[in-house]
Amino acid sequence: MVEEVVIIGSGPAGLAAAIYAGRSQLSPRVITGTALGGQAATTSEVENYPGFPKGIGGAELTRLMQQQAERFGARVEIDEVVDVDLGQHPFVIKTYGGAYKTKSLIVATGVSPRLLGVPGEDKFKGRGVSYCATCDGFFYKGKSVVVVGGGDAAVEEAMFLTRFAAKVYLVHRRNRLRAQKVAQQRAFENDKIEIVWDSIVTEVLGEDQVTGVRLKNVETEAQSVLAVDGMFTYVGDIPNTKLFEGQLELDDRGYIVTDRRMHTSVRGVLAAGDVQERVLRQVATAVGSGAIAAMEADKYIAEIEGRAYPERKG
Ligand code: NAP
Repeated sequence: MVEEVVIIGSGPAGLAAAIYAGRSQLSPRVITGTALGGQAATTSEVENYPGFPKGIGGAELTRLMQQQAERFGARVEIDEVVDVDLGQHPFVIKTYGGAYKTKSLIVATGVSPRLLGVPGEDKFKGRGVSYCATCDGFFYKGKSVVVVGGGDAAVEEAMFLTRFAAKVYLVHRRNRLRAQKVAQQRAFENDKIEIVWDSIVTEVLGEDQVTGVRLKNVETEAQSVLAVDGMFTYVGDIPNTKLFEGQLELDDRGYIVTDRRMHTSVRGVLAAGDVQERVLRQVATAVGSGAIAAMEADKYIAEIEGRAYPERKG
């Protein structure tokens, strides 16, 4: 059996593609990857996705998207892709659970957290070092934590952690935050948050569990130790494109290169969401590119099967 479209990834891009492909009656097969809902599902609160004036939890939002996709015939499989062969058509997708042939493929594999790369980080993973405040924040009730980074994720998740922790240090390597102004303002006004400017973490300290981090002030070179029970790191992301190396054109940072209609360097393979978006990585942009990718997959299938496709003007 040959699938019409396989979608790899179940974040907002993959699920939006599934909704649109489902409505085009392509019966899309969605391979979720390790985390259902992708990075968005680990976001405590999504406040800027239109339609939710009070905000919505990331896990709840992606669960609703999944329900919507399934309503239109998407088959969401909890499985992980281990290999792809885009050199033959239909394309071949191998997962832990099986192998699929498909006429078109939408890659929505997203990004993974970038590691800090300092001594102790790896050793204390799961024992005080975390990349997900919504997953692990609860364990820090009444304790002190440090959040590293100055972008949207660091500032928003630092705010979230104040629900549990008694004290949240936000360590940023410059003297200005990168996060959106509304988030910055809230952080500045929160008594539990203390921002440590111009500083980097050089080592994670502890015996069995994290007991602190070593800091270096990048202006003065002064070193100090900050006593904390946990470290949450939000220093950007790296694209999940290992599977496609040598098969799809990637840019210098490893993101999939697409044109404005989400076509990759291989005809019939589209990419959507953070895995191809370098500028504005938001749920809204992921959903938009997912929708376009699905419509282009539908068009591609019509083309290879010699069926007329209603062209849109403009
Ligand atoms: P980001 O925007 O790339 O910010 C990364 C932060 O980490 C920056 O402040 C950067 O410092 C700092 N950093 C990078 N490498 C570092 C290192 N080695 N040591 C110390 N600090 C380091 O990443 P993000 O906050 O994880 O967000 C990823 C994407 O998702 C962004 O496009 C973001 O806008 C989006 N996002 C949006 C929302 C929202 O709209 N509500 C929420 C979460 C994420 P510099 O500032 O000096 O570069």
